[in-house]
Parts: sequence; structure tokens; C-alpha cells
Amino acid sequence: MVLDDLGSSLRGTLDKLRGKSRLSEEDVEEIVKEIQRSLLQADVDVSLVMDLSDNIKTRALEEEPPKGTPARDFVLRIVYEELVGLVGDSTELPLENQTILLAGLYGSGKTTSAAKIAWWFSKKGMRPAIIQTDTDRPGAYDQSKEMARRAEVDFYGDEDADDPVQIVRDGMAATEDADIRIVDTAGRDGLNQELIDQIERIENEANPDRNLLVIDAAMGQSAKEQAQKFEESIGIDGVVITKLDGTAKGGGALAAVNETGSSIAFLGTGEEVKDVERFEPDGFISRLLGMGDLKQLTERVERAMQETQAEDDEDWDPEDMLKGNFTLKDMKKQMDAMNKMGPLDQIMDMIPGFGGGIKDQLPDDAMDVTQERMRSFEVIMDSMTDKEMENPRGIGQKQVERIARGSGQPEEKVRELLQQHKMMERTLKQFQGGMDGDMQRMMKKMQQQGGGGGMGGLGGGGGGPFG
Ligand code: GDP
Ligand code: MG
Repeated sequence: MVLDDLGSSLRGTLDKLRGKSRLSEEDVEEIVKEIQRSLLQADVDVSLVMDLSDNIKTRALEEEPPKGTPARDFVLRIVYEELVGLVGDSTELPLENQTILLAGLYGSGKTTSAAKIAWWFSKKGMRPAIIQTDTDRPGAYDQSKEMARRAEVDFYGDEDADDPVQIVRDGMAATEDADIRIVDTAGRDGLNQELIDQIERIENEANPDRNLLVIDAAMGQSAKEQAQKFEESIGIDGVVITKLDGTAKGGGALAAVNETGSSIAFLGTGEEVKDVERFEPDGFISRLLGMGDLKQLTERVERAMQETQAEDDEDWDPEDMLKGNFTLKDMKKQMDAMNKMGPLDQIMDMIPGFGGGIKDQLPDDAMDVTQERMRSFEVIMDSMTDKEMENPRGIGQKQVERIARGSGQPEEKVRELLQQHKMMERTLKQFQGGMDGDMQRMMKKMQQQGGGGGMGGLGGGGGGPFG
């Protein structure tokens, strides 16, 4: 993920400030160096990095911290605001009738993003349709149609047509019932005049409300030139950064945002239609700094809840998980919901205090409840009594044997499940005790200022170089 190690390296530096009430010039110097190193490693443009570090330095040394604020909270707050400024606002996307055109190079993730964005709008109660205009790539039609099926949205394409402009014309007419039209286009290996001509003609015909540039997070500084060309030809209103689930750094995409004077609209974090997030600068940076992202977490939980609702009588509230009394019933419920929410390590990044710090200390497989393990765990749990589910500590060897027989699973698996439960329980306890005072205070303050809505409303701050 972008600037992946910024959070953990910065936390180390910040920890040295614990107990201090004033910042020295050296303290600030060290923090700024840490940030520069991470940003440059992530391919962020040098001049952007320099502007950012100057701002942080000046503010940290010249601004007067509010009375009684520990140095650590004070500087964390400044870093947070400046980073939010660096990534800029989120592209505006009102929930109203509109046409969105996707542009970008071959393989950047346009077709996948078209389905993801359509899915996202459908979850907001809109009726989206995808119009597929790629007549160059064999299989583009099938791929797009399949993705639209998975996203459960309308689709228009014409396998036999060879004129994308004609497809757009027919497609706009055929999708009249839709609220949101997403026009997917062909890409090329490189940016050439032919691609530019084609996309201009498509743009003319579709007359979109927004043009989004799709950029692979792995793309380095060449993203800048690409962005500039698209900006000149059709104008870019927002950027979709894809493949953030990989090892990619994302700095190139930030350069593209800067180049087009636009903003980030969506983040893609996987190959499935659900692997999409609306970009929220404050939550994104909070997560990066290990402060969690309550807004995104809530959104995922709500979505998972809607899907689990039919099966479940009790509401599942992520707060419960943080309160400590963690039974096998909770674990089962959470496995169901988690399964629908996405990979556990992504979720953990969104829980305040969980990302970075504690997560880094866990053995790699501590939270690794894979689908396959979940299935066998579920079978095992079905063979447990209510009492056992509520008090797993009371399960002895005799019960293990019985449960194994009843579920047709090896005893080893039963013990593994109990072990997993213990590990999760311990982690939660560790989290409760481990979230340090500074961070807790910081979170409280942010929530107060954000009007209680998680981290929402905190943005704005830095006034960085992005539009
Ligand atoms: P297009 O040529 O721009 O339409 O790109 P596609 O949508 O066909 O994507 C190219 C490849 O990247 C496909 O194999 C996708 O599954 C994959 N892909 C797209 N977005 C993501 C993402 O966010 N994460 C991962 N891991 N893969 C992605
Ligand atoms: Mg495509």
C-alpha cells in the first residue's frame, strides 16, 4: 500500500518523544527525515516531498502547541494534517444521474474498475450500467460482461462491432433506464496518437460528466506524462488508483493527481468487484499512521451486516470485539461477517490502535483465518453445545474427542480452532491494554473535533500542493 512503512517507521520515531512536552529542533529533523525517506521510497515526487517537509518543520517549530498537549500528539497532528493535504481531497461524486468515462493504459485496471465503481454505486441505491467499448482486445467483451454479472449491474456491449463510437451511441440508447453509465475504453501498451484520437471521439459521443484516469499503483513517475496527455486531450476529473493490494507504492499515481490538478476518486485493492473503496483522505492517512479508519470500517461492517442479516438475529457491532468478552459464538459470527468484509489484515488497519503497531508484532498467521480453515471451523462449531460455544475454556480432552467425532474433523483441527480463539482473544486484550495513552487521547480529541463521526470532518488542514 502507498507509503506502506511510513506508519511503522514514524511510530518508532514518535515513540521516542513519549513523556516530552516540548519538541527540539533535532526531534523535528528526525521525524521529517523519516517521512522524506518513506515518501521518496514510495516514488512521490521530490518537490512535493520537500514542500511537505518544509511545512511540517515550520509548523512544528513555530506553532504553539495547545496547553498540556504532549509533544508527540502535537507533531502527530501536524504530520496528519500535512499528509491529508498532500493526498488532496476526494473527487466529488454526487449520487445523481451521470456518465463516467474511464481512460488509461492497457492493463491498468479499467475494466475491473468499471465493474467495481458500478457495484459501489449500486450499493448506494443507484442503478448503474457498464458500456464496454474496447474493440481491440480479444476477450474484452466477455471479461466485461462477466464482471458486470458479478457486480449485478446492467451491461451493454457488442461483440461484433468494430467501431467504439457506434457502440457508445447504441449503448447510451440501450441503457436509458440506468442512472449511472460507466463507459469502459480500450487501452494501449503505450500512449500513442491512435489511442488519444479514439478516446477523444468516444468522449465526444458519450459527453461524460466525469473522466476518470485509471492508474496502476505500481506505475512510477511515467504516470506523470501519461496523466498530462490524457489531461490535454479529454481532461481528467479524478484518478482511480488500482492494485493497492500489491507491493506497489502509489507515488506515481499521486504525481498524476498533481499533474491533472484533479483528485483521487477510488482505490482498488483486489481483483473482485467488492475490492474498491471510495477515497477518503482523512481516513486513508489515519490508517497509514496506525490510527485506524472508523468510517471505512463502519461502511464495510454495514455492508457485511446487510448481507448477514437474513442469517443472523443479533446485530454485530465491531465495538463488541473491542470490549473483551470474546466467546466462540462471537468468533463464529465474526468469521461470517469478516468473510464478507474482506481480508483480515485490511480490516485490522481500519481499527484504531490495531494497524501497524500491534499488527506488526503478531506472527504472520495469527489472524490468518483463511476461507478453508473457516469452513472446517464452522463444521466443528456446529458440533459444539451452546455451553461450549459460550465457554470454550471449559472444553477438555473428552469434549475435544466428542466434537471431533461429531464433526468428522481430526482432533487436531478442534484444538487448532481453540488455539485460534485464544490467540484472537489475547490480541483483543492486548489491544485494550496496549493502545497507549497518547494515542487514545489523540483519538478522543479527533473524534470530538470530527463531530463524533469517527474521523470524518477532520480533513482540510494542510492546504498542500494538490488541487
Ligand atoms: P484494463 O486493460 O485497463 O481494462 O485492465 P483490467 O481491468 O483488465 O485489469 C488488468 C489485470 O489487473 C486483471 O488481471 C485484473 O484482474 C487485475 N486488476 C485490476 N485491478 C486490480 C486490483 O485492484 N488489484 C489486483 N490485485 N489486481 C487488479
Ligand atoms: Mg479493459
